[in-house]
Amino acid sequence: MSTRSAEPTPWAAAAKMIRHDLKRAFPTVTFKVRSDSYSGGCSIDIHWTDGPTTDQVERLTGRYQHGRFDGMQDLYEYSNSRKDIPQADYVHTTRNHSDAVTAAAVAFVNRAWGWNLAYEPNQYGRMAITNDGLRGNCSGWQSQDVYRTLYSLSLICPIGHATLPGDAYCPDCGHDLHPIDDEETNVSLAAVDWESTVNTM
Ligand SMILES: [Zn+2]
Repeated sequence: MSTRSAEPTPWAAAAKMIRHDLKRAFPTVTFKVRSDSYSGGCSIDIHWTDGPTTDQVERLTGRYQHGRFDGMQDLYEYSNSRKDIPQADYVHTTRNHSDAVTAAAVAFVNRAWGWNLAYEPNQYGRMAITNDGLRGNCSGWQSQDVYRTLYSLSLICPIGHATLPGDAYCPDCGHDLHPIDDEETNVSLAAVDWESTVNTM
């Protein structure tokens, strides 16, 4: 049975608006946005590498999710439903990190703590953080600091140039990166024009 129709599905329409919003807020970053439906729901998956933090992206994309799954009650709660924009049941975000950025984060953490972590191919030929922490029960605790660093750092300057963990200033425009300037981030997010986004659908 065909489900094709002239109108896009709400989740496809939401994915299109998300692509548009992300392109305006972060024009230098490539996002992969996919929508999908299945028995019992629909979702949008967003993938990108380096660039903004998950929080920065979800500040833009959260409005496209109807609500959230309540594990305690085992039901989906429509706590964020809106009439003015198309929505999906779930908007998943996945931020990956390039080898260059991960290597810079390892170097940054090593400098900060006097550690000796390395980022190199492991026995399976995949890049991995090695020389990690204490062995035994505490195995791997130092690399957790690298992952925390990667998670929390925005890797673009307010103008959109790529930066590396440990950069105090943007290498391209010299913008001060510490502390992360939330005010400017909010300005660029506020610059997304929701009205015209809806009208150009
Ligand atoms: Zn810059």
